[in-house]
Amino acid sequence: MNECVLCKEIITNPVCIECIEREIEAWLYEVKPELIEELKTKTTEISVDTGETNCILCHDSMSICTYCYTSHIFEWLKTRVPELIREFRKFFDFNYFF
Ligand SMILES: [Zn+2]
Ligand SMILES: [Zn+2]
Repeated sequence: MNECVLCKEIITNPVCIECIEREIEAWLYEVKPELIEELKTKTTEISVDTGETNCILCHDSMSICTYCYTSHIFEWLKTRVPELIREFRKFFDFNYFF
């Protein structure tokens, strides 16, 4: 087990940001497809390709926890589509992955 490079917490539920991004992208496709390109830019902003933890879904190495990534996206969505924040929290609250 490794720690997240951002919050320094041990990554207990290793799902990489690309895998979460796919889920968020599928959701945005339903509710706000015009934001998908921007979502990708936002993901790239905090994407780190290295790490000694491997994603349980795609097995890529990763070093940012689900909480830091979803918070990053949450802060962005809050400014872009405040009306969708409730729904986002329902689906992508980090508890979703536990
Ligand atoms: Zn973190
Ligand atoms: Zn993954």
